[in-house]
Amino acid sequence: MRYLLLAHPKHTYQTTALVVAALIVLASLTINAANAQETQRLSLALPEQQQSPAPLVATEAAESSFHKLHYTLKPNQGLGHALQTINNNGNLLWRISRHENANYFTRLRPGDELIKWVNEDNRLVKMKLKRSPTLTYVLETAPSYDDSLNIYAIQQEVETRIQMVSGQINDSFYLGVQAVGASPRTIMNFANIYSWEVDFVREFRAGDEFTIIFERRYVDGEYIGDGHILAAQLNLRHRNRTINAFRFEHEGELIGYFNEQGENLRKAFMRNPINYTRISSHFQRGRYHPVLQEIRDHKGVDYAAPTGTPIYAAGDGTVKSRGWGRGYGNYIILQHAGRYETVYGHMSRFGKFRQGQRVNQGDVIGYVGMTGLATGPHLHYEFRIDGVHHDPLTVEFPSGDPVPEDLKPLFAQWAGLLKSQLRRTDPTATKLATLFE
Ligand SMILES: [Zn+2]
Repeated sequence: MRYLLLAHPKHTYQTTALVVAALIVLASLTINAANAQETQRLSLALPEQQQSPAPLVATEAAESSFHKLHYTLKPNQGLGHALQTINNNGNLLWRISRHENANYFTRLRPGDELIKWVNEDNRLVKMKLKRSPTLTYVLETAPSYDDSLNIYAIQQEVETRIQMVSGQINDSFYLGVQAVGASPRTIMNFANIYSWEVDFVREFRAGDEFTIIFERRYVDGEYIGDGHILAAQLNLRHRNRTINAFRFEHEGELIGYFNEQGENLRKAFMRNPINYTRISSHFQRGRYHPVLQEIRDHKGVDYAAPTGTPIYAAGDGTVKSRGWGRGYGNYIILQHAGRYETVYGHMSRFGKFRQGQRVNQGDVIGYVGMTGLATGPHLHYEFRIDGVHHDPLTVEFPSGDPVPEDLKPLFAQWAGLLKSQLRRTDPTATKLATLFE
């Protein structure tokens, strides 16, 4: 069975049309997949990225009439080595060098494998280089006409099949998901989608359940890796809480992962704006200040980390100020939507964002240091609402932007169909794995 068209970031087509097509696909999937053993395939047809010119001489069908040679490049070798045994290779190399796509064959790396087709005079008629699982470079030439040479790229069609896995977590989250055949990439994506809602180290209990609907990508029937997660479900049984996640794209751009109400699973702020070694000081009133040697409030959190560790913008916003403060050293204050501000102190140096510039959540705004009053390298981080300091580790964050109003009907349809797929599995009944492909 072969279905076509699902929204894909490389597409610039009308998303509406794609979603409708995808809905039809999923609808048929729902009907046909009552038996989980049945093979189900969804394909995604990528448009040709580049038009291939008409073949000069050696068409695919004609390849077999020529002699086929393989050459694998060794270190410090180039195209000249690969063509050494070819008749009239000097002239050929010169012609290649003048072609606008010469770099397809002149920028070679050790291990690159060139497939050559030569005629009875040992002259080259065709050459191919597989640059990636989806990209092949082709050179064609007619040996009898010295000016005929063509070099172009072929983008292979990627077929995307949709797979659903579900299972229970027993020992650890990672092992649980790995056990049902999800790749490390999909496990990581899954953890990222839910990282705003769940503490993956501490919150899982044996018996918690998950379902993931994700893309597996193929070229010529060969698996090349996982794509996106389209939908997921996490059932934290001990908390009696089920969290669904639906991927939503529009006009080729990811808008986000949302629950069925269209609420963003992402929060407007990251809990910790840094990968830290340990928390060296918590938010507290009346703390003894190690440098000033007096009792003071500590209006933020100190994250100990090596000098140079990147510091991320905790949320989208603009740089309200960037400069030097007596206690803070090099500091940045970010202004976020509404009433929120975040403050970052003791930086060794700043990132590229200047005062007044926009930053996105996760952008590197600076690096850990110990400028100002600090006894060791750390980030001093403050979270302010209407100018009032709150404990960054416990403050309730607002959610990221919900599904835009005008896209809600589209999202509702999409999420509804994905949800009916998620409902099809009962992890307790099927033990560890429900695979279908
Ligand atoms: Zn501090």
